[in-house]
Amino acid sequence: MLQSVTLQGFKSFADRTRLDFGPGVSAVIGPNGSGKSNVVEAIRWATHQARARELRAARAQELIFHGSGGKAPLGLAEVQLELRTPEGERVNLARRIYRDGTAEQDLNGRPARVRDVHGALRGTGLGPGGLAVIGQGEVSGVGQAEGKTLLGYVQ
Ligand code: ATP
Ligand code: MG
Repeated sequence: MLQSVTLQGFKSFADRTRLDFGPGVSAVIGPNGSGKSNVVEAIRWATHQARARELRAARAQELIFHGSGGKAPLGLAEVQLELRTPEGERVNLARRIYRDGTAEQDLNGRPARVRDVHGALRGTGLGPGGLAVIGQGEVSGVGQAEGKTLLGYVQ
C-alpha cells in the first residue's frame, strides 16, 4: 500500500510537497494544469514503471523543474515513496535525477538496482505490470484487475 509521496523539484513541484494516502480509495483533485498527472507520473517514475519518454518528457532531465512564476530552475528532481507490502514490511524508495543526467536510486536508504526495486515492490501493485495506478486510456484493462487492489483511476 502506498502511504506517502514526497516530491521535490519534480516537474511543476518546485517546493518539497508531501501527499499522505490513507487506506481505501484516494483521489487527487485540482484545476487543469495544477499537477495531478505529474503526481501520478512521479509514482510511475520512482517505481520504474515508466521511463521519462512515457511521462511526457523527451529526456529524463525534463522531469526536473524548469522554472516558472519567478522561481529559478532547479538542478535536481527527487521523488520519495513510502509503501507497505502485503506482509506489512515498510519500503522506502527514492529516485533522483540531476541536470547533468546523473541518476540515483535508493531502497530503504541505500543505493539499489532496478531489479532490487522491482523485487521490493512485488505484491504491492506498483511493480512492473502492476495495476495500482490506472492511467487515462487504460480503463479497459481494469476488467483484468479483478482480485487486485485498485488505488485509483487517474486522468
Ligand atoms: P489536467 O487537469 O489538464 O489533466 P493536471 O492537473 O494533470 O491537468 P499536469 O499535467 O500534471 O496537470 O501539470 C501540467 C503542468 O506542469 C503544466 O503547467 C506544465 O508547465 C508543468 N510542468 C511540466 N513539466 C514541468 C517542468 N519540468 N518544470 C516546471 N513545470 C512543469
Ligand atoms: Mg492530467
